[in-house]
Amino acid sequence: MKGSINVSVENIFPLIKKFLYSDHEIFLRELISNATDATLKLKHLTSIGEAKVEYGNPKIEVKIDKENKKLHIIDQGLGMTAEEVEKYINQVAFSGAEEFLEKYKDSAKDSGIIGHFGLGFYSAFMVAEKVEIISKSYKDEPAVHWICDGSPEFTLEETTEKSERGTEIILHIAEDSLEFLEENKIRELLTKYNKFMPVPIKFGTKTETLPLPEGAAEDAVAETIEVDNIVNNPTPAWTKAPSELKDEDYKAFYHELYPMQFEEPLFNIHLNVDYPFNLTGILYFPKLSNNLNIEKDKIQLYQNQVFVTDEVKGIVPDFLMLLRGVIDSPDIPLNVSRSYLQADGAVKKISSYITKKVADKMVSLINENREDYDKKWDDIKIVIEYGMISEEKFFEKSDKFALYPTTDGKYFLWNELEEKIKPNQTDKDGNLVILYATNADEQHSYIQSAKDKGYEVLILDSPIVPHLIQKLETSKEKISFARVDADHINNLIKKDEPAISKLNETEKESLKKNVEESINDTKFTVQLEDLDSNDAPFTITQPEFMRRMKDM
Ligand code: ADP
Ligand code: MG
Repeated sequence: MKGSINVSVENIFPLIKKFLYSDHEIFLRELISNATDATLKLKHLTSIGEAKVEYGNPKIEVKIDKENKKLHIIDQGLGMTAEEVEKYINQVAFSGAEEFLEKYKDSAKDSGIIGHFGLGFYSAFMVAEKVEIISKSYKDEPAVHWICDGSPEFTLEETTEKSERGTEIILHIAEDSLEFLEENKIRELLTKYNKFMPVPIKFGTKTETLPLPEGAAEDAVAETIEVDNIVNNPTPAWTKAPSELKDEDYKAFYHELYPMQFEEPLFNIHLNVDYPFNLTGILYFPKLSNNLNIEKDKIQLYQNQVFVTDEVKGIVPDFLMLLRGVIDSPDIPLNVSRSYLQADGAVKKISSYITKKVADKMVSLINENREDYDKKWDDIKIVIEYGMISEEKFFEKSDKFALYPTTDGKYFLWNELEEKIKPNQTDKDGNLVILYATNADEQHSYIQSAKDKGYEVLILDSPIVPHLIQKLETSKEKISFARVDADHINNLIKKDEPAISKLNETEKESLKKNVEESINDTKFTVQLEDLDSNDAPFTITQPEFMRRMKDM
């Protein structure tokens, strides 16, 4: 037997209320998204000449009526006729947004319409015991009034209450959700979810002081006026073309995103792709400092300028989690509640696009201004090095932008380093031996001794260095790394003759023996140094592999 499962709305409502959304607070985001969609739809229809009305400067208003326990969301968008309320509101899970995009496929694909699942509106019942819609369509039809108390019964009738085009949603806030009548709470939500939405959102008014007219008397009192308090920036930097933005604009947007951050970012990466997926955004390399709050100031994910989440794991490759900024993509597959990613191929593609973009930016930064790049290296190296060991594609390009600093403040690219040490630092098998220190103070005497011999010593001091070295050794031909206190240093073949020690051979032998006896450990090698140029008379080294075993 075949049949279809009968889902009745009585059963669905409590489910929506309880389980559909993890967070009750997102009701406001959903209703403002609908108000935004209604406005953008009207904009589109007027632009193609299908709606012959004045578009004007529409805004969305959020109003608290504490006394009557009501919250109003009012838009000046395209409105709904009675027929449309029947179709779009009374049919749960029928998305008017999707239908619109389907109908105006080509012309509206960049319109920024947000809706998707046809469930957003019902999130209102998570906080309201009764919801009213009063709507007047841009079409010449009477306004309608819809009332529903959360049961499947509703009333829908014509009304003369509304003469202006647009929709007003009235939520009768339930007893367990009275916090949503608090001004602070609503302001917090508007800041979190709607800060960069594309239609201006009014929440109350504020007083503005007018400038004094020229030549005003000294004791003149400036006039003040009440103006709309607009809580969002409808055209955030990432929605603009990189060519429109100057360095200051990027910096200003950084502070707009993270008002508590006073440090300037090191540089930014503007993301902009429309094929095979749509994605825009700006990522910043923050200056690594004590006030870096990686828990709080994270990369934010938006969809058509609506905040979705700052849990971007999966979309942004792990090594870039230390960056800040925004990513906006209508194509990131999210489930209904929007905070959870549906991991799939698209997400992988986005992640590898971001990786590539960051690598490209590094290349252009180092080519544009090498000196400046050298200076920033210590702040960005942890990110780059982590990228090199964790993302193969990133590693493959890293020769063009990864730096290897020496203990005396030079910063080499890989090929520069090779050129520099080739004549002087090979072992008997012809491998280049790259000497490095992990702590300039502790390994001071070893560094000094290596430098006296004419060797370059790198300073590699980030915590992931053992992994980076392993990666480089397995990927590059005929090289090996040796920490400056490892015994390799004794086996290097140099072109120059070694300096002659002031001690004669017998004296040297006995000194060496003494030291060896006092260490009493065959794991170490004692090497005498030239006493003239070195502040340590001998160095004690240990095989590189043994030391690494401890480090890893
Ligand atoms: P979605 O936004 O995913 O399409 P919703 O449940 O949020 O689904 O809304 C259902 C539909 O109701 C919308 O697609 C739209 O057609 C209509 N609608 C909701 N709010 C408004 C509004 N403020 N103005 C005009 N139409 C609206
Ligand atoms: Mg919606």
